[in-house]
Amino acid sequence: MKNSSIDLVFRNRLIDYYTEEYDPQVEVRVLKILEEGDYDFILAYHQEYDDLMHASTPRDPKVLDAFRKHLASFETLTSAFNKRFASSNRVVAFTPDHGTHIDPTTGKGAHGTDSSDDVDVRHFWGVYRGG
Ligand SMILES: [Zn+2]
Repeated sequence: MKNSSIDLVFRNRLIDYYTEEYDPQVEVRVLKILEEGDYDFILAYHQEYDDLMHASTPRDPKVLDAFRKHLASFETLTSAFNKRFASSNRVVAFTPDHGTHIDPTTGKGAHGTDSSDDVDVRHFWGVYRGG
């Protein structure tokens, strides 16, 4: 995602970048990379949940729908990855970069504090043996 923190944090390193307009284009790009590329590591970042929770609250129904889209895309990408690299030892990970809370002054979703809502996040890993 253009100008998102994840788009900027790895700049000036000897890695390939693919900056996309939004989440659907990210998914298309990663599927293409899985078909045509040969990378040791791929990071895909989705933005819609974060955008919508800043505009409302973290558990607003439309925000939760965005989260479900992220999960569906993760499933799509993970399935394609596991198919492509079935013969290799491999890892997939779902790694939120932060949690969320409701800012008491705005009443809207936010992050970036040291509160447990913002920093205690669950990561999910799949570790597979090739063969
Ligand atoms: Zn944010």
